[in-house]
Amino acid sequence: MGSSIRTKIFEISTSSHTDFVNVTPLVKTFVMDSGIKSGLCVIYVPHTTAAVFINEGADPDVVKDIAYKLNSLIQWEDPNYKHIEGNSAAHIKSAIIGNSRVIPVSDGKLLLGTWEAIFFAEFDGPRRRKLIVTLIGE
Ligand code: ZN
Repeated sequence: MGSSIRTKIFEISTSSHTDFVNVTPLVKTFVMDSGIKSGLCVIYVPHTTAAVFINEGADPDVVKDIAYKLNSLIQWEDPNYKHIEGNSAAHIKSAIIGNSRVIPVSDGKLLLGTWEAIFFAEFDGPRRRKLIVTLIGE
């Protein structure tokens, strides 16, 4: 059996200025529907003021704390910011968190840890965003 590559572009609606959307069910369904049993799942965010990360999904307070601390460390207003658009804080948070993650796929399932979930991270919302998921495997 040869290897195959499948890509799907998801539309994500964020609902507040900082918003972490749990996209785990979308990605899991895509993996299941793809028929790919073994390989890699690459998750990519094509935006400069958004990001993607993996962390605890069981207790929703964990991502609330992440948002709280990021926003307190990287303040929206700073007289030394130079970027004319006025959203430098969102660019900085996007750069720090990163715009891609890779998850192994085995037996047709993502090998996420028990408490792990995948979050689309909005830092300059609310907006309509894209999340690109590519599966490489067989
Ligand atoms: Zn900008």
